[in-house]
Amino acid sequence: MITLNGKGACSGIVFGRLCFYRRGAGSVERTAVEDPETEVKRFEAARGRAVAELAVLYDKTAQELGEESSLLFQIHQMMLEDLDYCDAVTGLIRQETVNAEYAVQRIAQKFEDMFADMDDEYLRGRAADVQDVSRRVLSILTGVPAGGIEAEEPVIVAADDLAPSETVQLDKGRILAFVTVGGSVTSHAAILARTMGIPAVIGLGSALSEELEGREAAVDGSTGEVYLEPDRATCSRLRVKARREAEYRELMARYRGRETVTRDGRKLPLYANIDSLDDMEAALQNDAEGVGLFRSEFLYLESRDYPSEERQFQVYKRVAEKMDGRRVVIRTLDIGADKQAAYFRLPAEENPAMGMRAIRLCLTRPEIFKTQLRALYRASAYGRIAILFPLITSVQELREVKRLAAGVREELAASGVPFDPGAELGIMIETPAAAVISDQLAKMVDFFSVGTNDLIQYTLAADRRNESVAEFADPHHEAILRLIGYSAKSAHEAGIWIGICGELGADQEMTRAFLEMGIDELSVSPPAILPLRARICQIG
Ligand code: PEP
Ligand code: MG
Repeated sequence: MITLNGKGACSGIVFGRLCFYRRGAGSVERTAVEDPETEVKRFEAARGRAVAELAVLYDKTAQELGEESSLLFQIHQMMLEDLDYCDAVTGLIRQETVNAEYAVQRIAQKFEDMFADMDDEYLRGRAADVQDVSRRVLSILTGVPAGGIEAEEPVIVAADDLAPSETVQLDKGRILAFVTVGGSVTSHAAILARTMGIPAVIGLGSALSEELEGREAAVDGSTGEVYLEPDRATCSRLRVKARREAEYRELMARYRGRETVTRDGRKLPLYANIDSLDDMEAALQNDAEGVGLFRSEFLYLESRDYPSEERQFQVYKRVAEKMDGRRVVIRTLDIGADKQAAYFRLPAEENPAMGMRAIRLCLTRPEIFKTQLRALYRASAYGRIAILFPLITSVQELREVKRLAAGVREELAASGVPFDPGAELGIMIETPAAAVISDQLAKMVDFFSVGTNDLIQYTLAADRRNESVAEFADPHHEAILRLIGYSAKSAHEAGIWIGICGELGADQEMTRAFLEMGIDELSVSPPAILPLRARICQIG
């Protein structure tokens, strides 16, 4: 047995096989072609080959796992033979005289959006299938294998590091745990793992090499240990520990349905951080009192082209409806830095964390921002939606954001589209600048939400993705506490509320300090809600 040591990013114990993530073709470029008929032929050939591959997979799976398991491959074949799909691709190649790869990518997105917007649960599930078959055709066309994991049973996914867009595209049902060479506890892959409640160990270093593909392993997400070919004694010790963790979860379940209130009567509602509509289930199961941060950019990262207003509206509306009158804070697009979608065509930057990201990008590309704002306001008619703007650094910037939001409200009102004109508007306090001028900013909004992940990296000059400077990113640093404390004071003097949605919100060593500062709400990953509620109920 070999033991690898990393950092636990999400607790939980699992046993399984290591499977390395393979990088795929990614997004393809649009190229103008002289002879569209050659591209039509290329598409037809790739489609034919994909159908043949699927037929082989169908037979193999039927023999090994039975007819029922192989059905999926038959559905995929049928999709590739569907006339609407094929005509749409060849039509686009001819009309716009573009390359086959680009046409497949764009039509796949259109079909995916169409399925994803359907009311029927089964049909909605087909969006993932369209994505799957299109990736197969694309990988044949480009000659680059599709990114992902090659495994039929659930596995421990190993990688050097995973970008947020790669993580969201994995089939969650097939992931037992994540183990990575690099990364930090506040990297987005780690945050995603926590949201999904999947055990994760990061920062294992070069010892996690691809030669380990297929090896049996055990992962302990609380200690950060990964055991390769664990011996019997280790297995039984881990099994006992896993049982204890399950008992602990049962104990925590007793806090479901209870109000989060200290013994001396101070309320501190606990909201959930979510990245997608799918995470709503975990939020509800863990008894979230609201959604405190919906990272809407994941909707963009999952797509291969800009998600339409209608698609966004459907997702925001469903989240609002599922929360049934409880507050849902949706953050506008926070793309850039480590969250990249190829179709944005963002130029490479020397220092992307300090570059063209989040609200800066939205203000330079207002058409994208306005589409999202329209979708958000339309959805506000179906629940209690609050809109949150990321990475604000100045009063002028916020003035511009509010001007655009007011413009969208006017447009909607003029065309008689229902929306909630009182939907709260708030900003993230995640730059030192915003915290320092929070007295001015507080007069312009309805709430603050402190993004400690970025606030720590910018205040302490420690890149949150760079493992080697992790020791400088001390979340308990006096500077961080003072900035949060001052923001809370500014918020309350202006009569608005303030929450914390960064990872520090779940740190139980800080709970008492947050209560003393008068923080009004904490938003944490769904699995952290009940343990935090248990802690708060014991204070006072
Ligand atoms: C933060 O910065 O603390 C935050 C909540 O936003 P993100 O982690 O998505 O940058
Ligand atoms: Mg942030």
